[in-house]
Parts: sequence; C-alpha cells; structure tokens
Amino acid sequence: MTSVATLGSHCSLQVLKGAKDEGFKTILICEKKRESLYRRFSFIDEFILVDSFKEILGLKCAKRLEEQDAIIIPHGTLIAQMSSQEIESIKIPIFGNKRILKWESDRNMKEKLMLEAKLNIPKSLLSPKEIKGLAIAKRHGAAGGKGYFLTTSEKDYKRKRDKLIQQGTIKGDSDLYLQEYAFGVSAYLQYFYSPLKDTLEFFGVDRRYESDIDGLGRIPASQQIDIDITPSFNVIGNSPLVLRESLLEEVYSMGEKFVEASKKLVTPGMTGPFCLEGVYDDNGRFTAFEFSARIVAGTNLYVEGSPYSAFIYDEPMSMGKRIAREIKNAEKDNQLVNILT
Ligand code: ATP
Repeated sequence: MTSVATLGSHCSLQVLKGAKDEGFKTILICEKKRESLYRRFSFIDEFILVDSFKEILGLKCAKRLEEQDAIIIPHGTLIAQMSSQEIESIKIPIFGNKRILKWESDRNMKEKLMLEAKLNIPKSLLSPKEIKGLAIAKRHGAAGGKGYFLTTSEKDYKRKRDKLIQQGTIKGDSDLYLQEYAFGVSAYLQYFYSPLKDTLEFFGVDRRYESDIDGLGRIPASQQIDIDITPSFNVIGNSPLVLRESLLEEVYSMGEKFVEASKKLVTPGMTGPFCLEGVYDDNGRFTAFEFSARIVAGTNLYVEGSPYSAFIYDEPMSMGKRIAREIKNAEKDNQLVNILT
C-alpha cells in the first residue's frame, strides 16, 4: 500500500491530513525535538524520528520509506535544508518534478524561467553600483525572507551587507541577489497543475505577514527616523486574500504560461502545486518577484478549501488533499510515472 511521507515542518499537517483523508498511510519524518508537537495529531500513522532532516539521505531512513512504498511530498523545508544535488539524489520517489526545485533555489535560473514564462519581473541588479532607487537584497534559496534588506545606495548596501557577514548570516556578496523593489500590494497566487488532466487549477491567494517589515507601520515616522533599523522579511504567518474578479483571467494566463515555460526548460515541467509571488500595482498589473515550484505554506490557510477551490470541487479541498487525490488518480490509471520523479 502506498504511503505519503513528508518532513515535519512548513505544511506537513495539511499534507498528511489530506493524504489520510484520501486513504493513504501517512509518515512524518520528524526531528526528535518536535516529536511531542506532532504526536498530538492522530492522522499521522508513523513517525521516523531523526536528529536532522539530512538523515533522509541515509540508508536507514530510505529503507524504512521504501518498505512503506512511500512518496515524499517536498516543501519549503526540504529546499531550505538541502542542496539541489542532495534533493535530486533522494532515491525515494518525490511528488512532482524534483529537478525544478533547483530552478527555484538558484536566483539566476529562477529569473530565466520567469522570463521564459513572459512574467513581468523586477529588474535584477548585477552589482550594487547599479542601485538607483529602492532595491531589495535577498539571499539565494528559500530563506523565508531572513536576512533580506532594503537599500537605496551602494554605500548603504555595503554597510548592511557587512552587518550580515558579521552576524554570520551570509559569507559575502555572492550570497545576495539584488533586485529593484516592486511597489504595490503583495499577493501570492497558489496553483495546482495536473499533468493527468492537463489542467491548471487556481487554488487561492494569500499574503505573508513578515517581521519586522509588517510591524513598522505601527511606529510613527518621527520615531522611525530616530532609530537605526534595517527591516527584515522573516515570514511569521499568512493571511487570506480574495482578488477582484476582473484580475482572474490574467491569474490563469500567468499560471498557464509558467507551466508551458517549465515544460520547455525543465522536463517534464511543473507538476502539482506552485505559487507565483509578487505585487499588484495601482493599475492592477502584477509584478512577480518570485515563484515556488512546490506547495507553499500559504495554502495552510485553506485546509477546508478556499474561495476558489470551492468553484472547482463540491467538497472541501485543501492543497494537501489535492496532491493526494492526484496520486490516487495516477495509481488508479497506472500513471504514477507521470507525476513522480
Ligand atoms: P520563499 O520562502 O517563498 O522561498 P524567498 O525566501 O525566496 O521566499 P522572496 O519571496 O523572494 O523570498 O522574498 C521575501 C519577501 O521579500 C517577499 O515576501 C516580499 O515581501 C519581499 N520582496 C521580495 N522581492 C521583492 C521585490 N522585488 N519587491 C518588493 N518586495 C519584495
């Protein structure tokens, strides 16, 4: 019997609850320090306890997962804690296209895929000398916004960069990627592409609540000036959003173009959940500064379905459940090879 496994973090509760609801055995690869948290949830059938998630690269963990016919659902923690080579070396089948995760982790490859998808993206700056207006310095990979900073000049950039080096957060310039700051209201567009049905489903939208940039608005400008703060973008949680209906057509076309581009650049393309992340400006134009080529934590909002999934399914459909449904359908039609790598 097939089981569904994931790392205990990020969106693991949603993923395993969805898998359980679809009739799969569920396995949590769980750091020992978090065991007591996850033991609270009865839909987790089996725990593989580890000191570090890297143990899934080892024989012992792999053997246990193999015995259980496990399929691993990748999420942000896998990407944050393992290199692309390590992820690609995992012998257990991974849901979706594990090769596309590299395109998510490397900012330059990411840009290439977004350009291929003809998304409107902020200009990247090749050197701090190019900083003119407001720019954002970001780390590679899914760092969850930690250590990112805003800057307006080369001098200011160097000062903030040196502070991060001192703190041990980065080693040097090569750990940072500079991009023009995109103004507007943020929106994280969640999609699911089914290669089995060749259809794109728009699943929901969220916004991130990031510390401490989102707390700054509570401090009056006069006090902000008095204190030397470099706001960071560390994700604390997510809140829901619904879009003006007139924006939906473009939402679908951007998602479709992204799927097409991914098929061209990284076969078999984008399978399963993904997210386009950016801002809408005052003309309703979307600038995408980022994509995630796997389930995002913002989908945790919609465990009981979202205002958009409700138009597609006559039952509560979370992203976790949707993934499990795809596996179930593929198994039934002998199509697992088309959704796993
Ligand atoms: P993830 O956890 O999705 O992998 P990440 O660590 O790769 O995220 P980004 O999503 O690129 O990081 O950026 C983190 C945050 O920084 C965003 O949520 C957004 O608030 C802000 N941000 C990033 N790039 C830009 C930009 N070009 N313009 C405006 N804000 C930006």
